[in-house]
Amino acid sequence: MKTIGLIGGMSWESTQSYYQVINQSIKQRLGGLHSAKVILFSVDFAEIAALQAHGDWQSAGEMLADAAHKLSLIGADAIVVCTNTMHKVAPQIEASINIPLLHISDATGQKLVNDKITKVGLLGTQFTMEQTFYKTRLSQNFPIEIITPDQQDRETIHRIIYQELCLGKVLPSSRKEYLDIIDKLAQQGAQAIILGCTEIGLLVKQTDTSIPLYDTALIHAEAAVEFMLNK
Ligand code: GLU
Repeated sequence: MKTIGLIGGMSWESTQSYYQVINQSIKQRLGGLHSAKVILFSVDFAEIAALQAHGDWQSAGEMLADAAHKLSLIGADAIVVCTNTMHKVAPQIEASINIPLLHISDATGQKLVNDKITKVGLLGTQFTMEQTFYKTRLSQNFPIEIITPDQQDRETIHRIIYQELCLGKVLPSSRKEYLDIIDKLAQQGAQAIILGCTEIGLLVKQTDTSIPLYDTALIHAEAAVEFMLNK
């Protein structure tokens, strides 16, 4: 088994999901007492969120590049950054290591293509929904049309991520707001929804809606396991 280096803490609420899913999957696939070889570098999200808010992606990228480099020095065979948003600085991280970075949108795009999804709704932070770093990589690498909610709904999605989900608050009223927005995207022709923020799966589950949900935290964690077990 290879060793995976997780850069987490963005937020730690969702990093728990990665750790759990990776271990559950390793246990399921190898059986017995097997568990995952993981090194976790968990940052202080307040520092990262402040840099995001000021648009200082360069400094945020330097912090994550430093984390990735340290993980590579102590034995990580690949890096998994446990957030969609911070893939904005993926090129900076990749430049600091000579091991692979398992990109969250590549794993997600591949799964959508395998399932023959061609038009998808994207939920995430405003950075992820509005900027090009995520959507462009997805639509350039895979034959998928991506639609996003309108501006007011994007603000709602973003606010709930930072003011509730990243603080461990899971409120039924916010679940309803998300489900209403998901319904609007389905009415616009989305065949599926990307939960393109690693905390959204803590709020909205597949059992809440009939439209297929693609939870990037779970997909990314499974991609890590594939890498770890691939000879
Ligand atoms: N975990 C979230 C994501 O997947 C948001 C937190 C962050 O800004 O990194 O985008």
